[in-house]
Amino acid sequence: MKLQEPKYVYMGGKLRLWHEATLHVGCEAVTRSVNVFEGVKGYWQPNGPFGIVQLRRHYERLCRSARLLHIPYDSSLDKYTAAIAELANALLEPDRDMWFRTTLFAVEGYWGENTVSDLVITAYHQDQRPPDPIDLGVSTWRRSPDVSLPARIKAGSNYQVARLARIEGRARGCQDMVLLNGSGRVAESTGSCIVMARKGIIYTPPATEGTLESITLDIVEALAHSMDIPFVRRPIDRTELLIADEIALCGTLAELILVKSVDGMPLDPQAPLLRSLQDRFFRAVRNVEPHSSVDLSVVTPAPAPVSFG
Ligand code: PMP
Repeated sequence: MKLQEPKYVYMGGKLRLWHEATLHVGCEAVTRSVNVFEGVKGYWQPNGPFGIVQLRRHYERLCRSARLLHIPYDSSLDKYTAAIAELANALLEPDRDMWFRTTLFAVEGYWGENTVSDLVITAYHQDQRPPDPIDLGVSTWRRSPDVSLPARIKAGSNYQVARLARIEGRARGCQDMVLLNGSGRVAESTGSCIVMARKGIIYTPPATEGTLESITLDIVEALAHSMDIPFVRRPIDRTELLIADEIALCGTLAELILVKSVDGMPLDPQAPLLRSLQDRFFRAVRNVEPHSSVDLSVVTPAPAPVSFG
């Protein structure tokens, strides 16, 4: 798979051409992977506008991640929203959804002194279709413990181990991998949370098991409640996952991806519970059947000139 290269990137407070959006080799973002980020999703709504999901929540988590890693970020929700909207306006294509990566890079500073950050936004087009079910494996790599690289925040450096797990998974024919925590229980996958269904109940591990504090999971929990499906956050043993009735990955980019096998063992392809949740999720984020747990910030595409320079 090749990374898309859309025409513009938001960097240094304005839009730049893709190949001009570069970082200096000497900055801590490059030498020590000092960055925190958010993946944000925007969906076309049936009647025309483009809606970005849970912007406030993403902004707040970005601020929390930055605070924990001592990356200064002097901004506001309005400025964050305006920056995303500016890039969205420049790149939107009819009927194609977009995923935005909003990253705070440490562009100046040394060992945490005099750190200066820059908000960089890249965006990628996505086709509007439900994701295909995947084969999942359990990785030999573990999620980092809270005392090392805290999984509950979204730091680029957390994804070193996810990358290794993906490489391991590819050799085993798996599209994604589960990372266990230091105690050998289920933490999350390389880029999303894990939900499983057993006997009509949906389970997911709490963040204290080594997962990101997921924004999508909160939506899915609220949807499950309104559909009268019990939803429980509690630790999950590895063997419990292997004998689950249904499994799905859950996250902003993953949305809800159904799992068709785990460590080579096939799962019920119908996945009735998680499929019905997946269906309800898409109707909510596309505003076909709104839900109080889904907050959509609407970007009305304007043909206005962009502040390109
Ligand atoms: N865990 C990891 C490691 C992730 O990268 C993501 C995606 N952001 C998630 C969980 C799901 O979080 P969210 O629902 O906030 O996107």
